[in-house]
Amino acid sequence: METIFSGIQPSGTPTIGNYIGAMQQFVALQEDYDCYFCVVDEHAITVPQDRLKLRQQTLSLAALYLAIGLDPKKATIFIQSEVSAHAEAAWIVQCNTTLGELERMTQFKDKSQKTGRTGVSAALLTYPPLMVADIVLYQTNLVPVGEDQKQHLELTRDFVMRFNRKYASESQPILTVPEVKIPKQGARIMSLQDPTKKMSKSDTNPKGYISMLDEPAVIRKKIRSAVTDSSGKIEYDVENKPGISNLLTIFSSFSGQTISELETRYQNSGYGAFKADLGEAIVSVMEPLQEKYHELLSSDELQDILDIGAEKANFVAAKTLRKMKNAVGLGRKP
Ligand code: ATP
Ligand code: MG
Repeated sequence: METIFSGIQPSGTPTIGNYIGAMQQFVALQEDYDCYFCVVDEHAITVPQDRLKLRQQTLSLAALYLAIGLDPKKATIFIQSEVSAHAEAAWIVQCNTTLGELERMTQFKDKSQKTGRTGVSAALLTYPPLMVADIVLYQTNLVPVGEDQKQHLELTRDFVMRFNRKYASESQPILTVPEVKIPKQGARIMSLQDPTKKMSKSDTNPKGYISMLDEPAVIRKKIRSAVTDSSGKIEYDVENKPGISNLLTIFSSFSGQTISELETRYQNSGYGAFKADLGEAIVSVMEPLQEKYHELLSSDELQDILDIGAEKANFVAAKTLRKMKNAVGLGRKP
């Protein structure tokens, strides 16, 4: 059975962008793959976090993983910092990655341009190697993520090929080369307030995103105030109508109807009616999910699942880490 790894940062509550781009795929994939779904809290601290809030968001994200329908019998759900192999392997990755490669990462360029190089943590440059470590430790074949992670997956593939070439024989590679899995539709959900910008859970303006834990009334309101245009026509045209196109993509993901079916259905409607129906479509998926989430959050079951997840992840990750350490000559030969 092939292996899947993916992670989400507890840097806020996941948005419908995270749900459509990543989480929705997880549930279907758990049937056919050996899955590892991680709460990547070490990635979250690359930018400042309140410690108590971070803890709460970490547990909340784990509960959301279960609430969307991930089954701990089929998928390993765990917290990154509870498996120390991630940070250790990341060091070996960093030592085999060039500064040039990391400085080319657009996420680093964007953030460091905004704040200036002295205003960001060194980890903002070196977190892609931690992501590489996350993936390679489980000998991952497939990584389901949104479009913004494509470049980091390229970095991972380059690293693995280089590492194997340098330290392993061709017939016995040490690490598995992963493939990226980006959904055909909804791989980049845009902000509701600025449809040229990616929807992000760490956006300082909460009107730009719908969080998976927003109350139904808030969901409806945020959709009503989503930025559109003045033409009044419900048509998919990313170039000229980015706001409506983004809403059509969201609607399609939540309703199972194709974008062209929706265009036909709403050809004689105004934005008001369209937005009202879209709000309902999102609420109808999120409301039952939120109910499950609240039950899980305070349960012993969640703690037990995370304990078991950490144990399994530690076991598998330690095996790969041992091979990596041995390959580069760390410690005494086992
Ligand atoms: P942050 O702003 O803290 O980086 P984020 O919303 O970008 O938060 P991440 O934890 O970085 O979320 O990413 C989790 C997963 O969600 C990744 O697979 C990422 O590609 C995907 N993702 C993030 N934003 C979107 C989006 N707007 N549309 C589709 N997928 C997304
Ligand atoms: Mg992100």
